Amino acid sequence: MKKIVRIDMSDLSVKTEPLPEKWARYGGRALTDAIVFSEVPPSADPLGPENKLVFAPGILGGTTAPNGGRLSAGAKSPLTGGIKESNSGGQAAHALAKLGIAALVIEGAPADKDARYLIKIAPDGSVEIKRVDEWAGAGNYAVADGIKQTMGDVKRYATISIGPAGEMGMKMAGIAVSDPDGYPNRFLGRGGLGAVMGSKGVKAIVLVDEGLPTIEHADRDAFNAAVKKFAAALREHAVTGQGLPTYGTNVLANIINEAGGYPTRNFSSGRFELVENISGERQREVTLERGGNVKHGCHTGCVIQCSRYWVDKDGTYITKGPEYESMWSLGADCGIGDIDDVAALDRACGDIGIDTIETGVMLGVYMDSGRLAFGDGKGALRLLEEEVRKGTDLGRVLGDGAEATGTAFGVKRIPVVKHQGLPAYDPRPIQGIGVTYATSPMGADHTAGYSITANVLNVGGTVDPLKPDGQAELSKGLQIATGMLDSMGLCIFVAFAVLDIPEAFDAIFEMATAHTGQTWDADALMELGKETLAMERLYNEAVGFKPEDDRLPRFFYEEKLPPHDAVFSVSDADLDSVFDFVPETAAKMGISKPGA
Ligand code: SF4
Repeated sequence: MKKIVRIDMSDLSVKTEPLPEKWARYGGRALTDAIVFSEVPPSADPLGPENKLVFAPGILGGTTAPNGGRLSAGAKSPLTGGIKESNSGGQAAHALAKLGIAALVIEGAPADKDARYLIKIAPDGSVEIKRVDEWAGAGNYAVADGIKQTMGDVKRYATISIGPAGEMGMKMAGIAVSDPDGYPNRFLGRGGLGAVMGSKGVKAIVLVDEGLPTIEHADRDAFNAAVKKFAAALREHAVTGQGLPTYGTNVLANIINEAGGYPTRNFSSGRFELVENISGERQREVTLERGGNVKHGCHTGCVIQCSRYWVDKDGTYITKGPEYESMWSLGADCGIGDIDDVAALDRACGDIGIDTIETGVMLGVYMDSGRLAFGDGKGALRLLEEEVRKGTDLGRVLGDGAEATGTAFGVKRIPVVKHQGLPAYDPRPIQGIGVTYATSPMGADHTAGYSITANVLNVGGTVDPLKPDGQAELSKGLQIATGMLDSMGLCIFVAFAVLDIPEAFDAIFEMATAHTGQTWDADALMELGKETLAMERLYNEAVGFKPEDDRLPRFFYEEKLPPHDAVFSVSDADLDSVFDFVPETAAKMGISKPGA
């Protein structure tokens, strides 16, 4: 029987309850949404005791489903003000699922604001909560070392932790999750969820799954057959079988630059003249020269294996990746073309506990104010280490992200939607991703509906990226599908194979059926995606978001972006059509507003 474990940080009490029947078909994003939708008032202070931080593995978490170990975290976001789900790789989702935990809910807040707690869940399900005040201000890597000293072999457990930014309540604070080697380098990055964890006084969570088996299936043979089919499709597709395993996510740098959609120097150009220096090809070459690792999974059971470790000239581990988004945000968007400078910034973000996308966009905006030169990698690192990490007055402004920084320093071009910084694809020459940025309940988020597939990569069809036609439909379908994948706990990269190989899509509902014993089919998968989005939209409406919030900043409609001289031209009516299914879905679910 799956359970929900609730830890109230007001009195350190622990409650365990069975997963209610109404949520029996939910996991990951759908489940974090359902709990936040039902239990967190839309008027709640994101950093107050009414907010709840929910961690949930997907429906396929803890199994051998390929790429099925994503962890979802949900809460009311301090950055966007709306509902937030952020998901990450790492070992924690498998550990939670093996512990039989469908959702871990951190509630309340300690009266003593200086208290720092470590929560440890043992294989028998017992929960220990102890003070670790001596870890106040520590970076994620020091916390990981501290845990290792008492726990020993990193294969015994998984960790979830925050750095100093989360403790200080910064709006770009994220939550680190340990990878199979114990490095705290996978990130629940977006939306300031690290600040929510900090407001609860929780510095780290240790999930001990040593000795626990992978979880049982309703029909083991059918499950294994579906796993085989899914893995074969992932190996067969060019992107998931070759591109990502060879070059990592940064395989995209040259491709997106070539398409003219690689935002450069705070979204003032679509091509970066130094892209070769920070491309996936260069990254692989240097990593191999230095003896780093260029292919592994961020959690056990990953078939694609896009992850890699960056090492310094002596071969010492610095950080993971850096991933495409981080290499772009801390590189091209800041005009920085030195790959070691970008890796140093990535390491600083991971240790301080801040989202690399929001940090890079913030730095680009700050550079645009004239206070730091574009291209000054060392200066950017100084800002992170001396201002943000230490929480100086300037550091607190920067730590609240791109919009806070741009507003404080009078910058005109602030690339945010719903207060969240835009990721690594300019929406003017790649219009479909602009629809996702504008309309996603998450704020600007490429993963919410990754239209780069059909706009650039010719995966799942082709939609001309420079024209507005068909972009709303494309984004809508992808946002629904992503809601489903995030709820299953599947890595978004499986979508490449799922969109092109029918057997891959079938394998998802076959795995879900064989694992849970419930009936899943293609329609049920899409309903799950729609229900997820319906809860998010209704929550945000109750918070006060209006159609005007589903728009890009004005400059995307007015400033022509070289080299295509494109502006964003999808109409407001098209943007407003993306969530036209919500009333019908909500009626079927019997919900109309949060708390229901
Ligand atoms: S494909 Fe990459 S991001 Fe996805 S699970 Fe594997 S290593 Fe993690």
